[in-house]
Amino acid sequence: MELFNTLTGRVEPLTPSDGATFRMYACGPTVYDYGHIGNFRTFIHVDTLRRYLKQIGMPVRHVMNVTDVDDKIIRNASAAGMDIAAYSKRFEGAFFEDMESLGLERPEVVPHATDNIPEMVSLIERLRDQDIAYQAEDGSWYFRIAKFPDYGKLSKKDFDGIEDGARVDVDEYEKDAARDFALWKAVKNDSNGVREHSWETSLGAGRPGWHIECSAMASKYLGDTFDLHAGGEDLMFPHHENEIAQSESATHKQFALHWMHVRFLLVEGRKMSKSEGNFYTLRDLLLKGHRASAIRFLLMSVPYRHQLNFTFDGLAESTSAVERLRTFAARMKGTFPAGINEELAAATAKALAGYDAALSNDLNTAEARAAIFDLVRAGNVAADAGALRAENATEILAVLQRFDGVFAVLQDRDAEITRSALDWAEQSGRINEASAELLATLSFTDADIDALVTERTHAKKSRNFARADAIRKELLEKGILLEDSKDGVRWKRK
Ligand code: AMP
Ligand code: ZN
Repeated sequence: MELFNTLTGRVEPLTPSDGATFRMYACGPTVYDYGHIGNFRTFIHVDTLRRYLKQIGMPVRHVMNVTDVDDKIIRNASAAGMDIAAYSKRFEGAFFEDMESLGLERPEVVPHATDNIPEMVSLIERLRDQDIAYQAEDGSWYFRIAKFPDYGKLSKKDFDGIEDGARVDVDEYEKDAARDFALWKAVKNDSNGVREHSWETSLGAGRPGWHIECSAMASKYLGDTFDLHAGGEDLMFPHHENEIAQSESATHKQFALHWMHVRFLLVEGRKMSKSEGNFYTLRDLLLKGHRASAIRFLLMSVPYRHQLNFTFDGLAESTSAVERLRTFAARMKGTFPAGINEELAAATAKALAGYDAALSNDLNTAEARAAIFDLVRAGNVAADAGALRAENATEILAVLQRFDGVFAVLQDRDAEITRSALDWAEQSGRINEASAELLATLSFTDADIDALVTERTHAKKSRNFARADAIRKELLEKGILLEDSKDGVRWKRK
């Protein structure tokens, strides 16, 4: 498998450098609010990578940190009158629920910044001992960029002539601030005069900067040099550039060998932002009645190095695409005459090869998806013509299963996920008109629907058409559509 490497600017092979396990680190969420679809686009592509590596037989050790202390957490927790641990735990819980809703696998290791303070302090001490870290008047510690000549090698920015000792002391950097960055922030009082959360350490009382967290946790769990580091494109500079500077200055070894950056998502052609009114969390979309599977499928369908323009039309298309795949998989589970149709067998082999070629070539999810839809078309055409044989169905199901090992949309958990989003909305007082309607629909369990459908079938058999129609109408009001076919009645939620 090959992947573009931001560091070298080339598409390069991915192999475990220790000959055994592929070690990867992805910058995780800062848990100060609910995750938005942009965040999840990045995490889904990292998940796609880990799933595909495992599929081709490479053991993976994936570390994703949780940033549970930073400016925004401190600010929001104090505004909510909560301590930072309770505040961040709440959003961390929500984040992992969302990951599960979107079918993301849990990384092997999920370390928390606040559990790794001693590791960060000792890394800063190593930099201090080389005069790379220095303490400013307010007690904060900074990284002296002038001591790291390679600074800028990842983002390809030119930092010649940067001023030694010029500092920025905030997390929320301006993009182009090429100045010494904070490693450790001395404790101060917040705007209400209350002393902020801090740790007593050999560096003084304070808390870590954001960049040092990732350097410390990556080397603790993966070693000084590891195979791949990933994140959204906004992290390339300054965050990842700073991680490299800190780690390589301390260890004198290369930090990550491969760097993967996921491009940002746009919404209806514009940058997603609260002020533009086009900002969506996963939960916002679920409460509007969109399915988790369709959101996942849409977020992963455009390759990670291309911009994804998220639109509601696209989401509707994605919903039908998932539906089509599921219907096709169900169809392939039917019974067919023994034997094999050679032409279809060739198309099946071609789809499988196309799928692997696409994903192993820089994780091209769009082409992998297209290869599988070619198979859906060929399989349906053959089945319609009565030309599909039992061995074809078996082969096709195996290909679909492989595809689903990465795309993970065939198993239908949608209603269940929406129901738990609604439970959350109810508990937190977020139910609005649209979600109330959705709630009414989902208050019907699958078993309730099956029972009514059976009753309707009996009513029709005994020529009680009034009752049969009444049931159809009742189900329709709850958003459940019935389809009569020669194989019986199928139902689906609107
Ligand atoms: P944060 O919790 O803000 O640190 O972000 C978590 C991850 O989401 C990081 O890898 C970010 O780069 C990524 N991210 C943030 N916004 C977007 C976006 N609009 N599109 C894609 N990825 C994003
Ligand atoms: Zn990071």
